[in-house]
Amino acid sequence: MMNTYDLVVIGTGPSGGRIAKKAAKKGWKVAVVDENEYGGTCPNKGCDPKKVMTGIAEVYDYAKRLRGSGLQGEVFLDWSDLKAFTNTFTDPVSKMTEQSFQESGVDTFHGTAVFQDPHTIVVNDDVLSANEFVVATGAKPSPLPIEGGEHVTTSDQFFELENIPERVLFVGGGYISFEFAHLCARLGKKVTLLHRSRHVLNGFDHEMTNKLIEMTKDLGVDIHVDTEVKSIEKRDNGSYRLNVKKFDHEHHFHADLVVHGAGRAPNVDKLGLEKAEVETSKDGIIVNHNFQSSQAHIYAVGDVADTGQPPLTPVAGEEARRLLNHLLENKEEEAIDLPVPSVVFTYPKLGKVGLTQQEASEKKIPYEVQSKNITSFYSYKKTNESGAYVKVLTNPVTDELIGAHFLTGAADHLVNLFTVAIHKKMTKQELSALLFAYPSEESDIPSFF
Ligand SMILES: Cc1cc2nc3c(=O)[nH]c(=O)nc-3n(C[C@H](O)[C@H](O)[C@H](O)COP(=O)(O)OP(=O)(O)OC[C@H]3O[C@@H](n4cnc5c(N)ncnc54)[C@H](O)[C@@H]3O)c2cc1C
Repeated sequence: MMNTYDLVVIGTGPSGGRIAKKAAKKGWKVAVVDENEYGGTCPNKGCDPKKVMTGIAEVYDYAKRLRGSGLQGEVFLDWSDLKAFTNTFTDPVSKMTEQSFQESGVDTFHGTAVFQDPHTIVVNDDVLSANEFVVATGAKPSPLPIEGGEHVTTSDQFFELENIPERVLFVGGGYISFEFAHLCARLGKKVTLLHRSRHVLNGFDHEMTNKLIEMTKDLGVDIHVDTEVKSIEKRDNGSYRLNVKKFDHEHHFHADLVVHGAGRAPNVDKLGLEKAEVETSKDGIIVNHNFQSSQAHIYAVGDVADTGQPPLTPVAGEEARRLLNHLLENKEEEAIDLPVPSVVFTYPKLGKVGLTQQEASEKKIPYEVQSKNITSFYSYKKTNESGAYVKVLTNPVTDELIGAHFLTGAADHLVNLFTVAIHKKMTKQELSALLFAYPSEESDIPSFF
């Protein structure tokens, strides 16, 4: 059946969903399409279920660290309970999201959207034409072009597992691998993590990631950097043998579950973008400052768009807000110039906002560093943390804060506070002069400098 719209949005995640609803509320005739659960990656198979799981693993770790300090008895992490509790968050998302679209007057379609020409897509038997399209199809695990690559379990599939087997191996050292590796190790599994290059957790401070590697090893995770997986073989007993190359030497690893943590790539393959004459790069759909692709009426936002921004939920939401300004208010947008905080939800957590030393050096931005081991601070002594670290970068001339890095149980909160400080161009003296509730991890801030 042929349907005609003002706007068709492909993808119902944090970027696409917001655009569809707001445009409909302005009186536009809007349709959305999704081939998976409504709501997209973050609430169904990403940030939210992950944070439920890592949050409980954090409480478990806390309880273990404080046993004998007022807490008694054993606690255990249990995968089936953890999964059942997590499902109470994810199960309602798709239906509720679809309902909210319908209540906003948006037509909803299920299936893969494929462009037939620059003004038409098909979704199963439906043909949808529109004046404007927004492609908000997110990202998917990067292809693993190795023999046996089909044996890896993706993060989507990880959430669905009935059991976590004894030996779990992660291919790739990104944040998803580290977060799941910590979880599996706390579930008592034998965990291995292999990373192709020297530095794991791309974009984070190297000194902090090295400390996190040491703490992750202390948790029992076997980490190998400079180790490239060449092929994966499935054995008769259902386990896997991984053939790897480390410094020109061949080695083998064995596992019962191999998890893909080797990065994510923009989700463009099935869209038929060549028929729409939309240009792409390896980082996604090429867009201008107004999120327009090579076809001015086809926009792209979120993880699928090549905007130079990190593929994170707050960024997807901000891009959606800006695109709405352009679509509904005809505003010319500018490139996003906000500090983007990012957290690895291991325990302790690793947080960053603003520049790393590496980035500042590459961009030839002068900086001063203040780096401190804060493990002995009251905040961390009282919770018996094995380590807590902070590193702050400032402009040596103005003393303005330009980067902040934390490896502590409170890294998520500290990094948010420093996001405000960096955005407001505060100096370290201005931040230190504020009064923070005491005792709290934030009240330690004046002692960081
Ligand atoms: C395991 C995991 C953990 C994460 N943790 C965090 C975190 O802690 N913090 C954070 O900020 N970010 C996190 N992210 C990233 C975050 O989920 C994404 O940045 C965010 O969801 C991007 O939103 P989006 O709107 O661009 O796309 P998505 O939310 O990915 O939505 C895209 C939608 O498009 C649909 N789609 C794709 N192709 C088609 C097609 N051809 N036709 C129809 N529908 C299509 C998909 O089914 C999907 O529903 C995590 C991601 C993963 C996988």
